[in-house]
Amino acid sequence: MRDEIEKVVEEIDHVGIAVNDIEETLTFYEKILGMKKTGVQTLEDRGLKVAFLETSQGELELLEPISDDNPIVRHLERRGEGIQHLAFKVKNIDQRIEELKTKGVKFLAEEARPGAGGKKIIFIHPGSAHGVLIELCEEAD
Ligand code: ZN
Repeated sequence: MRDEIEKVVEEIDHVGIAVNDIEETLTFYEKILGMKKTGVQTLEDRGLKVAFLETSQGELELLEPISDDNPIVRHLERRGEGIQHLAFKVKNIDQRIEELKTKGVKFLAEEARPGAGGKKIIFIHPGSAHGVLIELCEEAD
């Protein structure tokens, strides 16, 4: 018998994609694939321009760097454009982070911080997640 394991993550919130040029990328998703943009915003503190495209099961988050030093710049340099991270919705993010830390999960920051769209976010270190950069995010109230 396996112990009952509590579900930590909810559905996929979004897939983060590193791009060189958001406007050019939007042409593909909007004009070719017919997807709908739900917003574009600039996150000055993270050095990023971000655009969201909706699907019926979560969003695509396009990430274009607007500063010289951030994880998206490094992703583009090392691997070029492509999927950068996967984001799951969680509830009670602060409590979840503490629980996961006790299970040995490593994070890229000590605590959750504000992300795009007023969400609270944190990234799990890819070394703890078999090579995937996982973002946990909690909707704003
Ligand atoms: Zn994200």
